[in-house]
Amino acid sequence: MLTSNGVEDGSVPSNRIARLPAEVVERIAAGEVIGRPASAVRELVENSLDAGAKTIRIEMREGGLRLIRVADDGCGILRDDLVMVCQPHATSKLRSLADLETVKTLGFRGEALASIAAVAEVEVASATDDLGMAHSITVNMGGQTTRKAQARSRGTTVTVRNIFAAVPARRALLRSAQGEALRVFSVIRAYALIQPEVRFALVSDGQLILQTPGTTLEEAVVAIYGTDVARAMIPLAAPETSGAHLSGSVTSRSFHFATHEHVTIGINGRVVANRTLQAELEAGYRPIMRKGRHPLLIASWQVSPERVDANVHPAKIEVLLQDENALAKALREAVAEAIGHASTSTVPQAHWGEGIRFARSMQLTLPAPRTRRGLLLRKRKGSGTPRQALLEADTITLEHPLTLVSLGQFEDTLLLASTPDGGLYLVDQHRAHERVLYEQLLRQRDAVLEKKTPVQGQLLLAPLLIELTPLQADMLLPRIDELASCGIEYQPFGGSSFLVRSLPAALTSVRDPADLIRAVTHEATEESEHWLDGVCVALACRTAIRRGQSLSSAEQRALLADFGAVNVPALCPHGSPLLLRYSRGLLAKIFEW
Ligand code: ADP
Ligand code: MG
Repeated sequence: MLTSNGVEDGSVPSNRIARLPAEVVERIAAGEVIGRPASAVRELVENSLDAGAKTIRIEMREGGLRLIRVADDGCGILRDDLVMVCQPHATSKLRSLADLETVKTLGFRGEALASIAAVAEVEVASATDDLGMAHSITVNMGGQTTRKAQARSRGTTVTVRNIFAAVPARRALLRSAQGEALRVFSVIRAYALIQPEVRFALVSDGQLILQTPGTTLEEAVVAIYGTDVARAMIPLAAPETSGAHLSGSVTSRSFHFATHEHVTIGINGRVVANRTLQAELEAGYRPIMRKGRHPLLIASWQVSPERVDANVHPAKIEVLLQDENALAKALREAVAEAIGHASTSTVPQAHWGEGIRFARSMQLTLPAPRTRRGLLLRKRKGSGTPRQALLEADTITLEHPLTLVSLGQFEDTLLLASTPDGGLYLVDQHRAHERVLYEQLLRQRDAVLEKKTPVQGQLLLAPLLIELTPLQADMLLPRIDELASCGIEYQPFGGSSFLVRSLPAALTSVRDPADLIRAVTHEATEESEHWLDGVCVALACRTAIRRGQSLSSAEQRALLADFGAVNVPALCPHGSPLLLRYSRGLLAKIFEW
């Protein structure tokens, strides 16, 4: 009746304060911790890491909205504790207020599983020993629980079904399944880089899209980004900064990206977002990187736990750091030094750098290499082409070496081949040969750099005279020895002229030496620390079998054999795609066999 006073029809006045019912409190708290499938995955993976897991397998369906499953080989949960795991504020990691200061685990609030269980159906199966017997508990939207026994070796599997199904407002705010899957992918990629000694595998809708070997950072980078990127990584050399230790690596200047999504920072094994560190970091690479570009960087700090307060953000992504500025400065210097502060001029783009573009959706649909394969396919503009659709429909996980049986040549352009597992391959003959030659040249270069054993040069019948600008001559002169040890001999010939006397002997079919030397010289006078890569690309490109060249059966077989052994079979050195694969399964699908 007193509606003007905020009292409605004799019920409780709307301006009175009342305590919320417990389930509302829970739902609100849950929303802060678990905003989307990726935050649930993050919490589950952090739990696995806290449990000392060495292998973590993450599976999702429909971007995690239908199903998230995280399985680990960690310490497991005691049978009698299982009822506790989905209870709010139940944790094994913190006992007292004092512990909060020194907590070393990623989790400590005992909220994650309870929060997930408030918005999804959660099943936790766990075994604390290897006797083969696990116990499981299922909690349905914070409601009933059921218990079961099942077979399992030591470790824990948490399965989350239909997250947010009962929270339509939240569900509506989320992106498409693909968008959510990408977020999950980023979370796993970041943890795989910050904790490379743990093996990670991520399966999305049945496809393996990320797998790391669980060894070193370098090998994790190879597994996630491919060998070309790994080769371009420079370790961060940083002295101890007031008791904090920095490790990690950064790509050289020739690899850069439009966003900083490949900048990953870890503090004591936790993937974090820290604005001060991020800002300093950017200030560090800004002068040496083109505007708006970011490197691929992995920086991992180890600091004593008292100096970090992770208890400031619901999902603990932001952390507070003591001596934040000192750490930020050290990071900035380490990065600037690694990338090479000395040169502040324009940043040349290595040829093949351009090809390594981590198109977001591509990373998902085309899985990263299985183990040490550098398989990255570039997404072309206008991705909806049938070719793209075919590629996307099929998972490419190539064997190494790839056994290709030659079936013939198509229009003097493509080699057709089959594999023992019933796959059909179309291989661009020029790019495949380019890849073969390029890797061969890189291997030679590495051998030269390591052992200083010079590569045989093949003398040119007629030495070639080239005229450079004085600036180019200045660039070339200090590189002459290195070029000579790779088989390319430049002899100063007065002023800024040079006589080129030999080319690497490995290159058997030099069609137009003058053109080749022009291209090589162009690369060798580039103001780039990767000029030698550019030289290798130019050599490979100019001497590879061309499109339009008819090959004998023996030549086809030889090329396929060489190509089957390369490290990065999916891309030519310029980064263009070079093969199309139809797996037996895809053919069966297309033809409805
Ligand atoms: P917190 O990690 O903050 O302790 P959670 O809700 O994430 O809280 O987990 C609650 C408890 O369940 C943890 O303290 C831990 O004892 C147990 N737990 C959860 N996941 C795992 C796992 N994968 N392996 C072992 N124990 C786990
Ligand atoms: Mg936790």
